[in-house]
Amino acid sequence: MSRIARPAIFGMRERNDALAAYRGRVIYMLAIVAIVVMLPVAIKNFMQGQYALGIGDAFGILILAVDAIAIRRKRRPPVPFALILIPAIAGVLLTMRWQGFSGALWSYPVVLLFHFALSRRVANVYCLLQLVGTSLMVYQLAGLDATVRYFVTLLLTILLINLALNIVDDLHHRLVAQSCVDPLTGAYNRRHMESCLDHAIARSRRDGTPASLLLIDIDHFKRINDSHGHAAGDQVLREMVAVINGHARQRDLLFRTGGEEFLLLLPDTHEDDALRLAEALRVAVAGQFCTHAAPVTVSIGVSERRRDESMDAWLKQADDALYQAKETGRNRVVRRAGSA
Ligand code: GH3
Ligand code: MG
Ligand code: MG
Repeated sequence: MSRIARPAIFGMRERNDALAAYRGRVIYMLAIVAIVVMLPVAIKNFMQGQYALGIGDAFGILILAVDAIAIRRKRRPPVPFALILIPAIAGVLLTMRWQGFSGALWSYPVVLLFHFALSRRVANVYCLLQLVGTSLMVYQLAGLDATVRYFVTLLLTILLINLALNIVDDLHHRLVAQSCVDPLTGAYNRRHMESCLDHAIARSRRDGTPASLLLIDIDHFKRINDSHGHAAGDQVLREMVAVINGHARQRDLLFRTGGEEFLLLLPDTHEDDALRLAEALRVAVAGQFCTHAAPVTVSIGVSERRRDESMDAWLKQADDALYQAKETGRNRVVRRAGSA
């Protein structure tokens, strides 16, 4: 399998954190429930003249409402979820003061909530605070025996949540990897190509780094299929990917864009260097690559992205250059029109 693109493409958050996409939804539901519960309490506090408590409630409701509205409008919530959940720890401790040891039972859903609503690292820090804070309180309320049982069961719960999330993250990671890889050759697929090109263009706009494309098409591939069968054709495709990857650098990304057509994205590369790499690849294929004694060759179109050029325009230049390579006899490299 060719190299799996790392964070730049999918974002570390999305790739290693399967719950990231659901976090807003969890906080939204939590905020709505909390507002519904807190509103009558706030009104009651104001009516009973407990203005400090009432103002505190109103402030809490305001923060939750601001985030809920942002989530609903698909905007970034202005108040970090980590801040919103601090009252959850305090809430369990207060409940224990009112209800005694049984109030500690709220810790179990709360540690789950942390993991649904916060990134794994922050959630585990919160879980640790919850574990230590409430265990100390349990010790004061119910003695050593109960504290040991409470501590061990809550710790086990936290460990099991982490284990389950590790499995979910791993499955998510595999699914994401599979959804961007062509199963026959192991090169990336066309779908993934678009997000990688978008990323390369965004990077180039941001810091002016160059980027070039090689559009590589196997010459007379249909003949290979016709003479030796589809399975032999498939084998040539797989070997071609191995040869191209052998010439590519670690940071280059290879995509299968069509039946026997590949695109190699060369980040940080000017057209002259891309041309040299294309020529070396063409020579290597023509010199070494045979199927059933018939030589296999490739034609390659080369295109460095120009400033402010769109993805489609950039690809079209590579496509036009490849067309020229085919028109002028195949087994050759042609750079985009207008290059020096
Ligand atoms: P040219 O030099 O002009 O590129 O000629 P060509 O024969 O390579 O191009 P053409 O577009 O005429 O034929 C491409 C062939 O690739 C036709 C199609 O059957 C074959 N093909 C497409 N996908 C696969 C595949 O996954 N496996 C195999 N074995 N063949 C495939
Ligand atoms: Mg072809
Ligand atoms: Mg083709």
